[in-house]
Amino acid sequence: MITAAPEPRQPAQWAASRWQQAWRDAVRDPRELLALLGLEALAGRVSDEAAAQFPLRVPRGFVARMRHGDAQDPLLRQVLPLDHEMQPVPGYGLDAVGDGAARSGTGVIQKYRGRALLVATGSCAINCRYCFRRHFPYSDETAARDGWREAVDLIRHDDSIEEVLLSGGDPLSLSNAKLAELTDALAGVPHLRRLRIHSRLPVVLPERIDEGLIAWLSGLPWPVTVVIHANHANEFDATVDVALARLRAAGAHLLNQAVLLRGVNDDVDALVALSERGFAAGVLPYYLHQLDRVAGAAHFEVEDARAKALHAALAARLSGYLVPRLVREVAGDTGKRPL
Ligand SMILES: *Cc1c(COP(=O)(O)O)cnc(C)c1O
Ligand code: SF4
Repeated sequence: MITAAPEPRQPAQWAASRWQQAWRDAVRDPRELLALLGLEALAGRVSDEAAAQFPLRVPRGFVARMRHGDAQDPLLRQVLPLDHEMQPVPGYGLDAVGDGAARSGTGVIQKYRGRALLVATGSCAINCRYCFRRHFPYSDETAARDGWREAVDLIRHDDSIEEVLLSGGDPLSLSNAKLAELTDALAGVPHLRRLRIHSRLPVVLPERIDEGLIAWLSGLPWPVTVVIHANHANEFDATVDVALARLRAAGAHLLNQAVLLRGVNDDVDALVALSERGFAAGVLPYYLHQLDRVAGAAHFEVEDARAKALHAALAARLSGYLVPRLVREVAGDTGKRPL
């Protein structure tokens, strides 16, 4: 943390920026992360080149959920830049899901009927090694850029759009005021019926679910779904439970979307635990995604035959509503493709 003068009597309006402080305070040096975990011996496997291409970034609250001294920790594996990321693998490219083609330059992606996805921002509190974002920082093509003007116009003039999805990057990295600016502008659009928010922040930076955000959510004129992106049961703790309970109390439906990742959650017990732990926090599983084939992520891939076997084993152990749909995103499809 930046050493600051003590703040004996913090004014109330500062409380809202507690999450921004936690955001800035994220660990960004791989060696510091390893030292925090007692894993200095792993330093030789860290790739400075991979870290230069896509920096390490992980909030301290998330680090606290990693197991000390465990080089195989499933949370650590999601964020640590390792040397094999830089080995080129055939079939793994820069635009794995065709977003380059689908993007209209306005930060709006329309691939599926009835839904418009807004790339709200390029920022994330955490950098996940398997993410396509490592090649698409989306620095200037975000929908929020011009006061949401182009995105809102596009949605207003297309009455086939019933649902707006806020994605990114992480849309909850925007301020409450910036989010309200969008939903105020959309409030008068008669064909809009649902709002969905895809965010990893309730899990990786639960401080973000502050009073202002809850006030905003509670006042929205549409049913809201929040899709959290948790890949492992260990990502949940008491602080996450509180954030999720607040979202539920504000009326949001909570779903989880995970990515099937080798060495993170590619065994039946881990997947069962993820569904069960999520449900205990009020979250229903939605999708289990096969990895997007982005350069640098090949070591996370689980081959389709194994993915299907894992999914079948999961379905044999859990109530139907605790079994996510196993899907892959294929460029040009009309929806996520079931395996
Ligand atoms: C995944 C995705 C959606 C949402 O698909 P659902 O199956 O409704 O979850 C919408 N738009 C785009 C561009 C997507 O990639
Ligand atoms: S978009 Fe999601 S998966 Fe990608 S780096 Fe951000 S939080 Fe991680």
